[in-house]
Amino acid sequence: MAGTLTRMATDPRSPDAGLQGSRCSGCAVAAYPAEDTCPRCGESAHPAALQGTGTLWTWTVQRYAPKSPPYQAPPGDFVPFALGYVELAEGVRVAAVLDLDDLGDIRIGMPLTVTAGTGVPRARPTARGEEGT
Ligand SMILES: [Zn+2]
Repeated sequence: MAGTLTRMATDPRSPDAGLQGSRCSGCAVAAYPAEDTCPRCGESAHPAALQGTGTLWTWTVQRYAPKSPPYQAPPGDFVPFALGYVELAEGVRVAAVLDLDDLGDIRIGMPLTVTAGTGVPRARPTARGEEGT
């Protein structure tokens, strides 16, 4: 069972997949989305799996349907959703849709786990035992 979960979590085609970013071969700074060269020092960067855990840096609520395209409206009536930047343990800030049942529960600094999602990264509250090291 644990093997199944591990495989799902690392499959890049799965919406639950971890974040595939990059890490600089010189100064070791991480980037997301992945870059060929380091945004800080310009050295070459290599693909690296990011941990995906972090804290909410800032956020807002989208209260009307964004312009389409590029927005792809899900079926049914538009439902307001939250967007935020999650600062990962690696120091990268990732823009993500915040998957919380109650938008009133959102707080800056709350622990979140980011997955690749379909189209845009998704963040949900970090479960117990899931925190990074
Ligand atoms: Zn660098």
